[in-house]
Amino acid sequence: SQPLLQEDDDEAKATDYHADASKVDKAKSPKYAPGQTCANCSLYAPDGDKPSGGCALFYGKDVLAKGWCNAWAKKA
Ligand code: SF4
Repeated sequence: SQPLLQEDDDEAKATDYHADASKVDKAKSPKYAPGQTCANCSLYAPDGDKPSGGCALFYGKDVLAKGWCNAWAKKA
């Protein structure tokens, strides 16, 4: 595992990353739809059953499975 991406990291701000998808405000994050989380994003790389894993967008940092950002993409 790698250090966790923090919401106030520049790259997190750039993609509107939230550590807890359930706290995303749809008014401020219009791309968000309920049910979207890192865990079900096509860019997420699970680390066993750990609560965090890799994201193809963030080299060297892990994201929380329950997180979300505006690059969320449906799995093919
Ligand atoms: Fe999470 Fe997907 Fe955004 Fe990566 S691209 S932070 S896995 S929602």
